[in-house]
Amino acid sequence: MVVGISDEVLSAQELTAEVVECRFLTPFIREIRLRLPGNDFEYAAGSYVHVRVPPYQLEYAALELTTEAKSACEARGVPGARVNESEIRRAYSLATPCEQEPGTIVLNVRLMVPPEGSHALPVGVGSTYMWSLQPGDKLEIVGPLGDFRARESDADMIFIGGGAGMAPLRAIIRSELQYARSGRKIDYWYGARARADLFYATEFDSLQEEHANFRWQPVLSEPLAADGWEGPTGFVHTIALQVLKSQNRDLAACEFYVCGPPPMLSATRKILADNKVPETSVFFDDFGI
Ligand SMILES: Cc1cc2nc3c(=O)[nH]c(=O)nc-3n(C[C@H](O)[C@H](O)[C@H](O)COP(=O)(O)OP(=O)(O)OC[C@H]3O[C@@H](n4cnc5c(N)ncnc54)[C@H](O)[C@@H]3O)c2cc1C
Repeated sequence: MVVGISDEVLSAQELTAEVVECRFLTPFIREIRLRLPGNDFEYAAGSYVHVRVPPYQLEYAALELTTEAKSACEARGVPGARVNESEIRRAYSLATPCEQEPGTIVLNVRLMVPPEGSHALPVGVGSTYMWSLQPGDKLEIVGPLGDFRARESDADMIFIGGGAGMAPLRAIIRSELQYARSGRKIDYWYGARARADLFYATEFDSLQEEHANFRWQPVLSEPLAADGWEGPTGFVHTIALQVLKSQNRDLAACEFYVCGPPPMLSATRKILADNKVPETSVFFDDFGI
């Protein structure tokens, strides 16, 4: 029997990283900055790593959670402790281009609380572990992995994202603008529920000011009155397509890069197909969350 091993697996490294910084980006997304041994971990923007989640038992009362995450856990009656019986792996995308800070990687991890209306289901086992990490902790990673990356062409690039789908899209956009400097026209449409769920917004505002070929547009689906939101409201894929069509963009000639929650991903792929965008021009990463 011949067993094929892909090049990506062969080139993946197993490393012990050290957590250097953690911060909340939104009520449910935590940024984790990791220092790797040495500076030679190279990866294409859009890649992800596998993290090894060891067996553990954690009490939620001892975890640093946002007020919103705490309330969501209480409302769903999640058990007070989380147990992981044996080692598992979870995939997390790299949120910065490799050139930005050699030897350091950044992850955006969404805490996977059970669905609204559920009762007594546990919070996700991998994301709970990732939210328990503190500076100085060690994390075993394997990577880089994946083939979600910018294609080499002159086509306009249109990014549509939501939730933790920000991570690979941000890495690719920053890589194109700051390092590849191809001059390709890049649009980024990012959908969030309310203003509190938007993150890296000032960074994208600055990139837009610095790069004439880059435009970004956040879209909120359920802005709060207190948000004072004056931007577009609705589903990000619907608004993006409306605006692109009103600009008479040749959609079939653009490349689309999509990453976000499963309903957003499938709705975006459908609306692109309905608008005659060839499947071969649509690139996406399916997180399954
Ligand atoms: C290529 C790739 C890249 C990814 N990149 C990222 C990233 O950058 N950031 C990110 O946050 N995620 C990313 N993911 C997703 C990530 O790998 C995990 O899938 C995610 O963190 C959820 O894992 P978990 O162990 O926390 O949840 P799991 O334990 O797998 O649970 C998933 C959900 O099921 C619910 N659940 C638990 N028990 C039950 C039950 N009995 N019945 C019904 N529901 C139940 C949980 O509450 C949770 O909401 C990526 C995935 C892939 C494939």
